[in-house]
Amino acid sequence: MPRRVLNAFLTTALLATALAARAAAQGAATTPTGRQVAVTFDDLPTPYGELEDMRLITTRLLESVRRNNVPAVGFVNERKLYRRGEMDARTDLLRAWLDAGLELGNHTFSHINLQKAPLADYEEDVVRGETVTRMLLAERGMRLRYFRHPFLFTGTTPEYKKGLADFLAARGYTVAPVTFDNGDYIFADVYFKAKKRGDMDTAKRVADAYVPYMESIFEHFERLSSETFGREVRQVLLLHANEINADRFDELAAMMRRRGYSFVTLEEALKDPAYSEPDALYKNGISWLHRWRMAKGMPVRWEPEVPKFVDDLYKAGQGGG
Ligand SMILES: [Zn+2]
Repeated sequence: MPRRVLNAFLTTALLATALAARAAAQGAATTPTGRQVAVTFDDLPTPYGELEDMRLITTRLLESVRRNNVPAVGFVNERKLYRRGEMDARTDLLRAWLDAGLELGNHTFSHINLQKAPLADYEEDVVRGETVTRMLLAERGMRLRYFRHPFLFTGTTPEYKKGLADFLAARGYTVAPVTFDNGDYIFADVYFKAKKRGDMDTAKRVADAYVPYMESIFEHFERLSSETFGREVRQVLLLHANEINADRFDELAAMMRRRGYSFVTLEEALKDPAYSEPDALYKNGISWLHRWRMAKGMPVRWEPEVPKFVDDLYKAGQGGG
């Protein structure tokens, strides 16, 4: 890390610690400053929907991301581009991210499930997922550099995990870990389906519960970060390019600003030394804060669940469509 960046980082970290200490001493909910978060969106162009849904979601989401000056990275599943007669239109949705000044990364071609795929198949899916994204980035003089694991699965065994990590590094990828892991996709599924069937009461009830739930996730991982590192790390937020974020990102961004966050690039966030810490092997997709704690032998403290009424609707919708 260059000295200037290190100094800036240490100043920020010290300031955050001092403010946190003061807030604790006062026993008051003083608004902290100096918190930093990188925002990332997975499953581009969108996790679900037909072309018209994809267009609406992408347009509204990018308008909000731009309005809030958030230097986000979007992670692509190129398989979603391959629809007869729609390839150009779907590819243009990815171009829109670059037009908005944002960056694209690889999320594998097919959103492959590592738990069901041998390493060789997984690696092939990574390579296959590069084709269009690499071309679009090259059009702007940019390089494909970030990789996000589908489901945040990084390996089933130490050998698999190391083999994949070595493969990604050799192909020039930087892995994009997540600290603010959450269930936005659960809200999104219920919200999208409620809107589709014209049930606006349910859609509104679910959407109104979304940002308060996300704030509970922030509170949890901020505390966990302080407990683990004695300070709050630069966080990485995982969101999906879905409709609830298209409709509620303004509100989400306002919540983050209210909590003292500034929006930084993924590159800046990953300069936090926490991201060089060992991350434990774990069978499921979990926050890197959990992985770092496991590697240090610290107890697991899981984040808050999605509200029960949302989860019930999600499970009902999974069965009945
Ligand atoms: Zn994904």
